[in-house]
Amino acid sequence: MSDAHVETLDPEDWEAFRARAHAMLDAAVDRMMTGGEGPVWMSPEPVKAAFDAPLPVAGMGAAAVDAQIAALLPYGVGNTHPRFFGWVHGSGTPSQLVAEMAASAMNANLGGREHGAIHVEKQVIGWCREIFGFPGESSGLIVSGTSMATIVALKAARERRLGVATRKTGVRAGLVGYASALVHGCADRAFDMLGLGSDALRRVAVDAAGAMDMGALRAAIAADRAAGLVPFAVIGTAGSVDLGTIDDLDAIADLAAAEELWFHVDGAFGALGVLVEALRPRLKGIERADSLAFDFHKWLHVTYDAGCVLIRDEAAHRQAFSDRPRYLKGAERGLAAGNPWPVDYGPELSRGFRALKVWAQIAEHGTARLGRMIARNCHQAAYLGRLVAADPGLELLAPVSLNICCFRYGADDAVNDEIVIRLQEAGIAAPSTTTVAGKKAIRVNLTNHRTRLSDLDLLVEAVKRIGAEIETQGPSPR
Ligand SMILES: *Cc1c(COP(=O)(O)O)cnc(C)c1O
Repeated sequence: MSDAHVETLDPEDWEAFRARAHAMLDAAVDRMMTGGEGPVWMSPEPVKAAFDAPLPVAGMGAAAVDAQIAALLPYGVGNTHPRFFGWVHGSGTPSQLVAEMAASAMNANLGGREHGAIHVEKQVIGWCREIFGFPGESSGLIVSGTSMATIVALKAARERRLGVATRKTGVRAGLVGYASALVHGCADRAFDMLGLGSDALRRVAVDAAGAMDMGALRAAIAADRAAGLVPFAVIGTAGSVDLGTIDDLDAIADLAAAEELWFHVDGAFGALGVLVEALRPRLKGIERADSLAFDFHKWLHVTYDAGCVLIRDEAAHRQAFSDRPRYLKGAERGLAAGNPWPVDYGPELSRGFRALKVWAQIAEHGTARLGRMIARNCHQAAYLGRLVAADPGLELLAPVSLNICCFRYGADDAVNDEIVIRLQEAGIAAPSTTTVAGKKAIRVNLTNHRTRLSDLDLLVEAVKRIGAEIETQGPSPR
């Protein structure tokens, strides 16, 4: 019996498919080429209805799908635009599209087994060890981002302290950990998800430079020990999300060694400052971390999503996750070879081929060029800081430490909130807001290789113009 013509999901006409794929590629390239000319952001209102359709029992077909995708392209959050300054977003590179196309064609599952894609991830982890000075026997895993990397790292820390039996019995001891008051919220989430409770993450005061106060850290550990609790980990921040400040990682490493604590570093964006000669001394000690979490999708401009965890003690890492049942047993030869598998280092069994786009970004541009983009963002943040400091109508709310500049127009919190919303709604620029020492700040984060100094001139001019407009409209901006 011949079933050569049985239905599959493949195209019936491959040449027609080739033309279709080329057309979408053209639409994507057009969008990337001209994206910087339009507004930073537009409300997605016009595309909402199209994505609120009934479940299609009969498919709508390729042409309608492609038209709907093409119409969606301009409605991003704005992070590909030179004047996107909000939160911490990478800006991507056009060449990522090429790697993502190939990764999609391979449709690789990187949970494990012996195939080409696995070796791409191994190469990336090896390069990351080298970038951060981690030993050759340390382990690593590509994950969705620093949030997941932090969970993986702290799980290894938890099991190293409590023993692997904890995986069956659950957490009974009163584990506590420490981080600076400027720690990212993903650490609280990790403590929550690991059954420790976010209260078990102690927030330690920072000094005038925004670094964790080592005296206060020592005191907090002593107080917890005296209370019968079990300190197990300390988190150093390399690039705080509010201000870009960096903890004294060397001092934390010394203390962690003396107190037998796991030393984790959140370096989501800032860790990659090691690619810049002038920043490297400020990150000294990062190479001594027990674990490091950082993102490729921020300051390396890899497309979303891609982050990484590196763990010094490979055995601690593996014992926290490895539990392969009989249907996943490895082998010496054949498809099931290549032990250990990535599934032994993290919670996910099926994993996509993020490694290819990361590899392609580092391989194409090289660490020197990627580092130059990081250095330039820091110079730009300092430039903005000088513009603000020189302007009597503006106030710099914290020294520019790295790539983030926090300032305000006048002294009214509501006016500053309104300025940022109007900048976003008009598509002029997209900073975000935060609170610095009780004052509402316009927060400009530069992890954007497309930004030029003229974009920052334009931002300052627009902040002052809109601020003055709001003030002439009266005390209530809304
Ligand atoms: C962005 C960020 C995180 C969270 O990383 P995700 O990749 O969004 O999960 C953690 N810490 C810092 C300092 C960050 O900037």
